[in-house]
Amino acid sequence: MSYNSDILVIGAGPAGLSFCSEFAGKNVKIIVIEQLAREVLEKPPFDAREIALTHLSCEIMQRLGIWERVPEDEIFRLREAKVINGTSPYQLHFPQPMRARGGETDRLGYLIPNHRIRQAAYEVVKEQSNVQILTERSVGDVHIHNDNVSVTLDNGEIVIAKLLVCADSRFSSTRQKIGVPTDMHNFGRTVITFRVNHTESNGHTALECFHYGRTLAILPLTEHMSNMVITIDSDKAERIINLSDEELAQDIYTQTGGRLGDIKVASTRHTYPLVGTHARRFYAQRCALIGDTAVGMHPVTAHGFNLGLQGADILAKQVIRALEKGEDIGSQSVLTSYNFKHMLNTRPLYHGTNVVVKLFTNESQPARMLRSAVLRVSNNLPIVKKMISRQLTG
Ligand SMILES: Cc1cc2nc3c(=O)[nH]c(=O)nc-3n(C[C@H](O)[C@H](O)[C@H](O)COP(=O)(O)OP(=O)(O)OC[C@H]3O[C@@H](n4cnc5c(N)ncnc54)[C@H](O)[C@@H]3O)c2cc1C
Repeated sequence: MSYNSDILVIGAGPAGLSFCSEFAGKNVKIIVIEQLAREVLEKPPFDAREIALTHLSCEIMQRLGIWERVPEDEIFRLREAKVINGTSPYQLHFPQPMRARGGETDRLGYLIPNHRIRQAAYEVVKEQSNVQILTERSVGDVHIHNDNVSVTLDNGEIVIAKLLVCADSRFSSTRQKIGVPTDMHNFGRTVITFRVNHTESNGHTALECFHYGRTLAILPLTEHMSNMVITIDSDKAERIINLSDEELAQDIYTQTGGRLGDIKVASTRHTYPLVGTHARRFYAQRCALIGDTAVGMHPVTAHGFNLGLQGADILAKQVIRALEKGEDIGSQSVLTSYNFKHMLNTRPLYHGTNVVVKLFTNESQPARMLRSAVLRVSNNLPIVKKMISRQLTG
């Protein structure tokens, strides 16, 4: 069997689906290939990733109709954020933002569970008559021609499109097949993440604790429920994963110095090996990379999906512009223009994040002192603080 489309998207993750939703009502036919079953897309399982969203992402999600599909009680507001270095009581503090004409707003940003974003994006795309999602299929061979791309799926079906969009994760096999060189950095660390209930209020404040030996991020959900994100050397992760719920609760109690009161583990635990990836370019002939396939961030600065959404938005705008002018949507000019604009967003954030990670996981005495100095300078120089805050919240 063979299919013809204008755009072929590989991967129905949050980035691939957001990209598709940009084309609602447009005269363009899209086919999406996803290896997972349809039931998983309809009801994605909880994966313990709580996605901190910038204001720009919130705006894009609202415009695409994704936001309104997320249940209201699963949109958690983030009032403030604090960063702590080692055992020092000193904190870098990002308070509630002020409105332009004075008066405080009540939030720095929002947190939404990743599986809810996926579900909402799928619900939007499912209703688009111009998108067809083919599930339980994967990519076999990719052949790039002057006028189109022809992809043979693992079941022998062939899809032909004018533009191929790769959104099949940071470990993308399609990116490899189209020959885009990619820088990869294995941090040698693993994230272990889960929810806890606690008796004391979290004050809707996110805490990033750069303890020596491990990092703990506390992301406030409801006042008495938070998400814990432990980052630790991969060879030490097994010990934490194998703790009983009671032992893990006690461990978190110790790490948080009892500030959250009594703790109960409230969800399954999920682990993610930390590998950062950045494609050297976000295109090949008739092909574009979006989402984690373009840039897979370390989660400490909470930018992965935010960049994914931004990239999908930029690419969609270039494609729609070409469509409206009756031009080729897979042309070199569409792709290079997307590449130029999105690289400006991703490169500084990717490299900046990696520098922060390097500094805050280095436990030599000079690095500890530098960590402390960085927090103090950031706290006391309003312009630096504003810059960091703007980077984090968009
Ligand atoms: C612990 C943690 C916390 C995070 N916190 C934040 C945060 O606070 N803020 C933020 O912005 N980001 C955050 N992120 C990053 C965010 O989760 C990712 O950037 C985002 O999920 C990537 O979406 P994606 O669609 O690009 O890729 P994915 O979610 O990886 O989706 C890829 C899709 O492609 C499919 N696929 C793969 N290979 C194939 C194939 N060969 N054929 C067909 N289909 C295929 C997969 O099944 C999947 O459905 C966090 C990540 C982690 C791990």
